Amino acid sequence: MARVYNFSAGPAILPEEVLREAAEEMLDYRGSGMSVMEMSHRSSTYQTIIDEAQQDLRDLMGIPDNYKVLFMQGGASQQFAMVPMNLMRNRVADYIITGVWAKKACEEAKKYGTTNVIASSADQTFSYIPDCSDLPVSDNADYVYICENNTIYGTKFKKLPNTKGKPLVSDVSSCFLSEPVNVADYGILYGGVQKNIGPAGVVIAVIREDLIREDVLPGTPTMLTYKTHADNGSMYNTPPAYGIYICGKVFKWLKNQGGLEAIKRHNEAKAKLLYDFLDNSRLFKGTVRKEDRSLMNVPFVIGDQQMEAKFIKESTSAGLTNLKGHRSVGGMRASIYNAMPLAGVQALVDFMEEFEKNNG
Ligand SMILES: *Cc1c(COP(=O)(O)O)cnc(C)c1O
Repeated sequence: MARVYNFSAGPAILPEEVLREAAEEMLDYRGSGMSVMEMSHRSSTYQTIIDEAQQDLRDLMGIPDNYKVLFMQGGASQQFAMVPMNLMRNRVADYIITGVWAKKACEEAKKYGTTNVIASSADQTFSYIPDCSDLPVSDNADYVYICENNTIYGTKFKKLPNTKGKPLVSDVSSCFLSEPVNVADYGILYGGVQKNIGPAGVVIAVIREDLIREDVLPGTPTMLTYKTHADNGSMYNTPPAYGIYICGKVFKWLKNQGGLEAIKRHNEAKAKLLYDFLDNSRLFKGTVRKEDRSLMNVPFVIGDQQMEAKFIKESTSAGLTNLKGHRSVGGMRASIYNAMPLAGVQALVDFMEEFEKNNG
């Protein structure tokens, strides 16, 4: 068995311990005689799995009692519609555009009401986070929307925007559980789990209770109403049962690592190693303004397409995979999520050093 260092942006690397445990339980989950995949979601065994997953997530993030945790499907992209359908009572929302995902969310919300772009970093190819300390937040905005970590461009909000009292809705797909957050600062935070938590097919939303309401936009499907999922413990219909089970294992793994403070220090050490190398390299260059750099997604370029293609080919052969940048921006990108060990980043830096020596 040869496992690679997988730098994919998502679906992405998972902790090896979790995969091993899941493999051991594949045919017979703890004496049940069946796989979790084969189990009724209405069974008491499965109820324990989803309850523990929720409680462990609550413990990890310190989620206050007036927030609900929902496990849903449809990916982060479905939330682009679900958020306005559930929140747009005035049919107005403010969006901060820091990349492709925020832009897509904004475009989707336009189907339901007026969207105001109150800040954007499009002028410099989304290579920075705009100053959001005093934005022209609309008086009647139902919410202010951000994408907190920009998976494609490698920027991260280090400080949340001043929403002037409006609920903040944040897409945290690619920074979920990468560091501690103060949940009370958000109205809704949500993410697809395939970036930093589990297998594709699960989206987790943490929602303040007053935003879970019956008076959603007319025509909102039952399945796209937060209240449906909140009232039924994320089991109105069959949930993505196996995916939630794996997420639960990752939550326990994170607890064993020492929780989000500890994982943050680990992530900072990994990111520093790579950014320090980029800052001192003659061949490779980071593309993001220093103070806005993501701990999770690190884009970099050589600036010569042929040389970049050579780098991607040779790094793949060396067992460092998925370093190609997003198809919309080119270059390279190393996603160094929670499960990426320091040794993986060290192997990448060693490889880049060697490549620079041979091609510089
Ligand atoms: C990947 C990603 C998405 C899209 O996720 P899907 O689950 O494929 O819909 C949205 N937002 C961010 C920040 C992402 O990284």
